[in-house]
Amino acid sequence: MENIRNFSIIAHIDHGKSTLADRFLELTKTIAKEKMRPQYLDTMDLEREKGITIKMQPVRMNYVLDSNFYILNLIDTPGHVDFSYEVSRSLVAVEGAIILVDATKGIQAQTLANLELAKKQKLLIVPVVNKIDLAQARIEETKEEIANLLNIQKNEVFTISAKNGTNVEELLKAIIQKVPSPKGNPEKPFRALIFDSIYDPYKGVIAYIRVVDGKITNEEKIYLMATKEISQIKELGYFKPEIFPATELKTGEIGYIATGIKEPRRVRVGDTITSSKFIEVQPLPGYKEPKPMVFASIYPENPDDFDLLKDSISKLKLNDPSLIFEIEHKEVLGRGFRCGFLGSLHAEIISERLKREFGLTLVISTPSVVFKIINTKLNQETFIYSPSDWPDVSEIKEILEPWMRLEIITPTNYLGSVFDILKNMEGKYIKSQPLSQNRVLLIQEVPLREIIIDFYDKLKNQTQGYGSMNYELLEYRTGDLVKLEILIAGKKEEAFTKIVPKSRILNEGKKIVEKLKEILPPQLFAVSLQAAIGGKIIARETIKAKRRDVTAPLYGGDYTRKRKLLEKQKKGKKELKEKGRIMIPAKVFLEMFRG
Ligand code: GDP
Ligand code: MG
Repeated sequence: MENIRNFSIIAHIDHGKSTLADRFLELTKTIAKEKMRPQYLDTMDLEREKGITIKMQPVRMNYVLDSNFYILNLIDTPGHVDFSYEVSRSLVAVEGAIILVDATKGIQAQTLANLELAKKQKLLIVPVVNKIDLAQARIEETKEEIANLLNIQKNEVFTISAKNGTNVEELLKAIIQKVPSPKGNPEKPFRALIFDSIYDPYKGVIAYIRVVDGKITNEEKIYLMATKEISQIKELGYFKPEIFPATELKTGEIGYIATGIKEPRRVRVGDTITSSKFIEVQPLPGYKEPKPMVFASIYPENPDDFDLLKDSISKLKLNDPSLIFEIEHKEVLGRGFRCGFLGSLHAEIISERLKREFGLTLVISTPSVVFKIINTKLNQETFIYSPSDWPDVSEIKEILEPWMRLEIITPTNYLGSVFDILKNMEGKYIKSQPLSQNRVLLIQEVPLREIIIDFYDKLKNQTQGYGSMNYELLEYRTGDLVKLEILIAGKKEEAFTKIVPKSRILNEGKKIVEKLKEILPPQLFAVSLQAAIGGKIIARETIKAKRRDVTAPLYGGDYTRKRKLLEKQKKGKKELKEKGRIMIPAKVFLEMFRG
């Protein structure tokens, strides 16, 4: 146990966590040279395509220092605010955290947020400046920022290049020296925390665990304390980073147990696993339930796929417990789910994962925040999860919406551009404070509605990638809001319904119909696009009919066939018009809610 070190790498997105993990994997010969590829621990296709880490990824490494043999368990984590639940879960499983800061960017918003999480867990923090190989690296200034933040001396901050490997071995040695070994009691009954899980069609739910006390062998039966489930272990082991079978797991180790349980709901992240011999032990504290920030409805494009969607969502939840869902029924769309997400990137990633990992084609509504409405008649409070459930104006006494504390970090010379974005949205300036000579932390209060869609992209654009943000819920405050409805070919399209401030209805209406005109594929007939408030049209556009000459492939003069085809086309058009609804490809929904 004295020779185990468990640690995470935390940082803002793109500061080099996964690249540093690569170097550790090489140094410890965990991955053979010929198998190495950049960001090895980003194992999902989606992560590799987007170049971001979505999932935490544990890996066990071996290292010999001064003829002592060490087991190093590293957990790589995501950096985007929408995935901070992954970070907080991984931090409960470790004793130390490397806080990595890109020397060309300095401390960014997620650096601060993740550092707070690590401090809450009382982890040993190893501060590191990365990317010192780059010409534009501001090494001294970044060291100073970190030293100020952590109240330490500048020379306690490591400087490395994760890309070239400069100083990485020294860092690994320092981790062994500084990070405390795990504290549990090997003599006590077995207790382990489930910090993640995944579904395997053969092995059932695989629980990722941190052993807190005692040990367990692969012959035993486990007991899941929250769900009171007993099950024979199918397999246990650790991460290389692929799962690798072993015969036992001991105090302080990080590994997995294949439970054989096929029903996803019976295994819960945050639950305590013990042996069936010890069902009386005290459960571990577990995790706080994540708070969904935005809601969107997900429906199968083909209503027959509902059961497949239901099954897929519960399997996906094993791997992403921050996803919340509930069955919902809508007249036009059939049966689907109302889902809660931590942000709109999270919503996008989940729909993409459902598509890729489970082969589903989905219809998704625009993510929306949760509104509270005080009803005129009964003076009662109701929650509105979807803009299409917005009540009639006559029933509304008061509207309340979530407000956030928004933290923005930007180089001082972009401060003006940042204020330009902020001035176009509702909000309240609180303060700004310098982090170093040329970087500043700005605090603003804003309605969540203003930042969930494309605020982050705007901030990145205005600051040439240097600006960053983080937010947290403050409280619900009164808002002056109305429901904006979108009609396509005269039919209301609920998925595009949006709640907007009264002062901006014209702008918003125009923006939506113009965007739809741009991205909706033309049909065989002209399609009208309208934005309406309480039945009154406030903006309109038309998509011209697509001309398709169905007779073109018929050369020569076979007039009867030609006429038949033209009649068939006419009939087709009529049917489409009568059905009144045009098919909207799933990618249009995605494009639309990107804002
Ligand atoms: P993560 O989001 O924190 O996991 O960051 P990644 O490891 O995915 O790295 C983000 C980008 O920074 C990638 O293009 C890396 O190649 C690059 N990068 C990481 N470390 C270094 C470094 O030390 N020097 C240079 N020049 N680039 C680096
Ligand atoms: Mg990464």
